[in-house]
Amino acid sequence: MTSPVDDTLATTALITKLAREELVDMVPYQSARRLFASGNNEQANSKTWLNANEAPGQGQYQLHSENINRYPDFQPQALLNAYSNYCKLPIENILATRGADEGIELIIRSFCRAYQDNILICPPTYGMYAISAENHGAGIISVPLVNTREAKCQLDLEGLKQQVGKVKVVFLCSPGNPTGNTLPVAQIQSAIDIFKDSAIVVVDEAYYEYTNEELGAEQVNNKLISQCDNVIILRTLSKAFALAGLRCGFTLSNTDVITLLSKVIAPYPIAAPVAEIASKALTNDLSIMQARVNAANHLREQLSEWLKQQKWCSDVFESDANFVLFRCNNTDDKNNVFNFLVEHNILIRDQSKQQQLENCLRISIGSEEEVTRLKQLLETL
Ligand SMILES: *Cc1c(COP(=O)(O)O)cnc(C)c1O
Repeated sequence: MTSPVDDTLATTALITKLAREELVDMVPYQSARRLFASGNNEQANSKTWLNANEAPGQGQYQLHSENINRYPDFQPQALLNAYSNYCKLPIENILATRGADEGIELIIRSFCRAYQDNILICPPTYGMYAISAENHGAGIISVPLVNTREAKCQLDLEGLKQQVGKVKVVFLCSPGNPTGNTLPVAQIQSAIDIFKDSAIVVVDEAYYEYTNEELGAEQVNNKLISQCDNVIILRTLSKAFALAGLRCGFTLSNTDVITLLSKVIAPYPIAAPVAEIASKALTNDLSIMQARVNAANHLREQLSEWLKQQKWCSDVFESDANFVLFRCNNTDDKNNVFNFLVEHNILIRDQSKQQQLENCLRISIGSEEEVTRLKQLLETL
């Protein structure tokens, strides 16, 4: 008889032999929760989570379960109508997904042949583009963001031109995570033009609601979709709508793209309770969302000003989102700030392993109380 330990080893050897080789050593996405998993809800609740760009506070939602024995619609009508009304695009241009993350994955699976095609990313940027690409076997080409005399973290348009014909999908993030800045519309338009015959340009707008341009930006984006064949916009309810736990996002594009992605998505991606809560958030609760965004923007400006005055802080990035990225003088200062907060149960995100972000940390804008406590603590450092 083999002991349980031997069984485990035998299983591991078998699975390692059978698994796709490149997945064996792959490191899964280090989600904010995984990094500080306590396994225990009470402990989790005693922590202050300022590391995943979640919005503070929770809404009140009532669920109806009359039809829960039935499969939901492939794309729940009420939800599409609600988002259509919100984003001012027809429902034919909208695909509801399990978070914007599922949109990223669907796009890569729909356009990139495994082990043949590449995506393009502009680091420092959101980690899931590369993870989804690796998972699917798509290659990754990086054209890093550049600092110009006028502004930090801009697109390297010359660098992008050199990749024409070598990539199928280009991921732009605006406002950028973790950098925080909105890309000028002219730069996004240039990227779309550069790749107009050869690649899809995805504009990830997870933080769209926090940008100050408001309605003007909406019309620009609608124009991009109607005038360019190769544009996809990603949105989510996880940030400004304070519904990260719901898992609901939207992919906006022309009808050809939406039809294509519909062939790849799961048959019932949106659970009935998800559709119900999301529809309500998008109709009755828009003023609550707007108030939440205004409060976060105000707190962010205060926090940025405060950070600039701290002696361990050498640089604060401009942000149009619900977080602030800043650089510490050196690795010791960075570790001191991060670890001191962890000791006091406040979790922020270490971004220092990203290209160009040596000694950088990112703080999500939580509630006013949470941000105040963070500042008070750090003043005793
Ligand atoms: C949070 C985030 C997402 C993922 O959003 P979900 O809808 O929760 O999957 C996508 N892109 C960026 C840039 C993000 O920061």
